[in-house]
Amino acid sequence: MRASDIPEDFDHVLYTEEQVASRIREVAAQIDADYAGRDLLMVGVLNGAVMTMADLCRAMKSHMSMDWMAVSSYGAGTKSSGVVRILKDLTKDIEGRDILIVEDIVDTGLTLSYLVQNLRSRNPKSIEIMAMFRKPEAVTCPLDVKYVGFDIPNEFVVGYGLDYADKYRNLTDVATLAPHVYAS
Ligand code: 5GP
Ligand code: MG
Ligand code: MG
Repeated sequence: MRASDIPEDFDHVLYTEEQVASRIREVAAQIDADYAGRDLLMVGVLNGAVMTMADLCRAMKSHMSMDWMAVSSYGAGTKSSGVVRILKDLTKDIEGRDILIVEDIVDTGLTLSYLVQNLRSRNPKSIEIMAMFRKPEAVTCPLDVKYVGFDIPNEFVVGYGLDYADKYRNLTDVATLAPHVYAS
């Protein structure tokens, strides 16, 4: 669905479906160039990174493999709980592999710091991060995010995989919510 299908739910649109698609093609080209001739395993973080992974890997012109992890960081609300738990682990060994973590958004960087540390202990050849969105607070964390879709303001956004109370993931635009949505 598009933001215009239920305009009453949104405050403003940050990026349209078309802008997201165009940026995805640019990042895919960068990844193609950087990983040419290598054996790339892209690790998506469920559920938020589903759309980014699906579009990014299809926009690439080279081979890749895919695996998924699920971690909990936020609950149903909009504030970080500060607790990271692995809910679903990788299905295969990553020792000696080139890993690219695909994440929806970096806010405090807490979730990704934990993930990188966890995956590093499994001795991959390399680990890099692609995040579709990055918030200002992310600069305070030492995390090196190699590929960023968009740097966004410090607002809670939904769409393109990002949820509020597990809704709005299927919004193709990226938008902020109207206040009444939080109240209901
Ligand atoms: P961090 O650990 O970097 O603070 O938070 C990362 C996770 O929090 C993201 O993977 C995402 O699930 C959630 N998150 C952070 N900011 C937003 C936001 O603006 N919108 C939504 N829907 N989720 C967010
Ligand atoms: Mg996420
Ligand atoms: Mg969420």
